[in-house]
Amino acid sequence: MKDDQIPRLARHIVTLAIRMGVIKRKPCEVCGEKYAVAHHDDYMKPLDVRFLCHSHHQKYHKNTGMKEYKMYEIDKDPVKCKKCGYKWIPRVQKPKKCPNCQQRNWEKKK
Ligand SMILES: [Zn+2]
Ligand SMILES: [Zn+2]
Ligand SMILES: [Zn+2]
Repeated sequence: MKDDQIPRLARHIVTLAIRMGVIKRKPCEVCGEKYAVAHHDDYMKPLDVRFLCHSHHQKYHKNTGMKEYKMYEIDKDPVKCKKCGYKWIPRVQKPKKCPNCQQRNWEKKK
């Protein structure tokens, strides 16, 4: 197994575990920020995760000197545009408009 396949697999397992309700998505354990990512201390223990917001996640990696596998870690849930039904994973907390139909109040039906 290649090195980068392990975090990828761990991420996949967490995604499934959250979907199945085995792991509950939690707010950041440091500041309580709602948008937190699942961080692995040990990728060999895929179900052993802690939830950290973006800034605390980055700090954590800096402090521990752990290699950043950010792209492999769980990010946000996809959001759905109520206007056109398009689903995407936003890069910011509150996307201003739907990337598909470009409508601004995509969170409201009308
Ligand atoms: Zn935080
Ligand atoms: Zn991490
Ligand atoms: Zn849309």
